[in-house]
Amino acid sequence: MNVLLLIMDSVQAKNTSLHNHSNDTTPFLSELSDSATTYKQARAPSFFSLPSHASMFSGLHAVEHGATSKTDSLSHETIFEWLANKGYSTGLFSSNVYLSKDEFGLNKGFSHIFGRNDFLVAKSSTKYPHQNALNPLKYRSGSNGDRNIKYILKSLGSEQPLQSILNGVASKLDGTVFPYGLSEPEPNGSQVLTNDFLKWHGNQTQNWAAVINFMDTHFPYLPKAEHNLWGNDDLLQYQEKITNPRVDFLTGEQPWWIAKALESVYDGTIHQVDQAISRIYSELSRRGDAEDTLIIVTSDHGEGFGERSRVIPGFRIVGHAAGLHELLTHVPLLVQFPGQSDSVTINDVATIRKIYDLIKQVVDESYTQDILCPEHVLSFAELTDRTEQLSAENAAGELELTDLPRKMYAVYENTDNGVNKYIKSGDSEYLIQIRNTHEAMLFDTQTNNGLVESVYDDLDYNASDTSTAISQDTAKHLEDLGYL
Ligand SMILES: [Zn+2]
Repeated sequence: MNVLLLIMDSVQAKNTSLHNHSNDTTPFLSELSDSATTYKQARAPSFFSLPSHASMFSGLHAVEHGATSKTDSLSHETIFEWLANKGYSTGLFSSNVYLSKDEFGLNKGFSHIFGRNDFLVAKSSTKYPHQNALNPLKYRSGSNGDRNIKYILKSLGSEQPLQSILNGVASKLDGTVFPYGLSEPEPNGSQVLTNDFLKWHGNQTQNWAAVINFMDTHFPYLPKAEHNLWGNDDLLQYQEKITNPRVDFLTGEQPWWIAKALESVYDGTIHQVDQAISRIYSELSRRGDAEDTLIIVTSDHGEGFGERSRVIPGFRIVGHAAGLHELLTHVPLLVQFPGQSDSVTINDVATIRKIYDLIKQVVDESYTQDILCPEHVLSFAELTDRTEQLSAENAAGELELTDLPRKMYAVYENTDNGVNKYIKSGDSEYLIQIRNTHEAMLFDTQTNNGLVESVYDDLDYNASDTSTAISQDTAKHLEDLGYL
């Protein structure tokens, strides 16, 4: 029995055909759901790659494994170490820094690791040639003229004034470079990883377990023309003006309508990954391996396009930078158990954290499909330093981000016609009632029924030090991903 975990990075449930999206972004997954189990209310344990993958791989809540800020590391045993100890051949296919780099503890247990480590390598190293001086991209709030003056004043007050100003000049001259300064954006990473995987698979002579994390769906969105079915070239050109979605939109440098419009290009990237998954599935079937494989398709978190927070006045969700909005936590989840031929829909709230237990149970040949649906589903978010920095930069701007709570705790519970989400943020606790990906409402702003506190109090965790020493190279990658 083999294990295949397919992660479409940054794909919110709402934008898939599995959840009746108006654009048919995942025709293959819809077809696959005829002989698979669809979890309609699946949630991610957190809002960005590291904590969510750490939960999937370790089976632990985010607060338990503690890899919740961008420079943390997972120290617990992963399901792939467990599989490797059982004699499985293990492969990781990913260009996501958090998965491919050693520092974060997610690539433990894989005997083969494929993927471009340089995928999001900054051309921004040429964008600001003096790496030890100020990075002009970090001083982007305000109007163009104000910004220049502010940057020059900052430069003059810095330790390397001349080099900092030269960096500013270089970034101006280099205004046409791609978002994040990608040197060679990979317009179809899923195709490359699919080729790598199929080649590796062809050489397997024993039980195997593989993870593929597709980054096509992560910003910047670069669907190939045949998948860009709902966007157009104009939108791709708008996208080129964006250096960092969070900074550009939240500081008002770019208008919000562009954020919303980019959603149609994002849909094209989902279609592109859906087709890659289709290719993998038909090839596994042709090779006679699909029936004997546990196939899991999901995402690590969602993505926002400027939608308003229900609990933080004035805050809007863009990219996946902070908080626990449904756009970030509600993810698609489809499982085809070995030999499954019937279609099953599960409406109970589920969590991708339990993928760890699911794999163990299926390998041990004793499983139930509701293993993914514990009594309480938890999501946790810790504010990243980058967002705090943004607040400081934007102190004079229209948004008061300085009030963002440092930590947010959510607990999901089933109700008769959907899911209740209790969310604790600072001293406030809110109740949001959710029917499906398209219908949710803030029901109560002062719930305080103590549920969140009691559920988290029951967990056995302590705030051990999980921070990892990341190399300069990795820090650069993270900055390019928009995390630092
Ligand atoms: Zn991710």
